[in-house]
Amino acid sequence: AANLLEVRNLGTTFRFGQAEVQALHEVSFEARTGRVLGIVGESGSGKSLTARAIMRMLPETASVSNGEVLFESGNLLDLPEARMRSIRGSKIAMVFQDPQAALNPVKTVGWQIEEALVVHGMNKSRARARAIELLGQVGIPEPDKRIDDFPHQFSGGMRQRVVIAIAIANSAKLIIADEPTTALDVTIQAQVLRLLVDLKSRLDIGVILITHDMGVVAEICDDIVVMYGGRVVERGAVAGVFAAPQHPYTRNLLRSMPRIEGVRTARLPTIPGSTPDLSRLPSGCAFHPRCQFAEDICLREVPVLLPMAGSPEREAACHVARQNAGLPPDPDPTPS
Ligand code: SF4
Ligand code: MG
Repeated sequence: AANLLEVRNLGTTFRFGQAEVQALHEVSFEARTGRVLGIVGESGSGKSLTARAIMRMLPETASVSNGEVLFESGNLLDLPEARMRSIRGSKIAMVFQDPQAALNPVKTVGWQIEEALVVHGMNKSRARARAIELLGQVGIPEPDKRIDDFPHQFSGGMRQRVVIAIAIANSAKLIIADEPTTALDVTIQAQVLRLLVDLKSRLDIGVILITHDMGVVAEICDDIVVMYGGRVVERGAVAGVFAAPQHPYTRNLLRSMPRIEGVRTARLPTIPGSTPDLSRLPSGCAFHPRCQFAEDICLREVPVLLPMAGSPEREAACHVARQNAGLPPDPDPTPS
């Protein structure tokens, strides 16, 4: 499938008073039509920040320092804000963790879907019919009877479906969903994720799913980007990465994944150590304090994301993985 969105060397800085801290480093990946890309990592790894940088919805204190976000033959980072506003909510839509916060409690769900349509140019009478149709598409039973209900009259899962209806209202080509099911009951999570996969196929769109859950990636993603300390440390097709993870962090994430079938242990193994503070990253490879394979070079040089198996779509950023694969070290090392 063709690339829908290409993120190239994206860097983002945060201001802390006088100081400036690099929070995202050289983040690169692509999202494709008809595929779900999972961006995975622990909290604080830079996943949400990446999504917000793409959408140009960064907090006041953050800004993009370098890189490109290519979408429909242009760089989103270069667009005037008015153009970006029309892309947001139409061609690229975002779904956040908490549907409660995304919906206006004092407006009916119908009003909110219609509003999204009208803002992007549809007339009022057509918008109501379309809103009912959209509620049906996201699996709300009897949409014509529910359209005038308020958000509080829906369950959490149904509310998230309404948010997804708003996301696809203007024929989005890409949905970026940031932990869209984390706030929901476990049984409801799978249904909402299934809906995203269904919509991806039915509407032929691309989905970027941000998650900390490798089980979710296994279940619904086609491609995976693993982030650690504000960098991409491994990426590729899910099948390849799960079959032969190259980065020790990816291996640990997979090992800590609960078994879906087979023996369920009472306690899940967790990765020792804690996520680094993006403002005070360890030298060299940010993972080195937690890595059982760390060598001297790991403390000195940042490992760059490089092709692993001769395929540009399978990349990892690990000195030792490259040695083990018999590949030459980084041709142009970045001192930390
Ligand atoms: Fe571990 Fe070194 Fe690889 Fe980092 S570069 S993951 S410290 S082996
Ligand atoms: Mg987050």
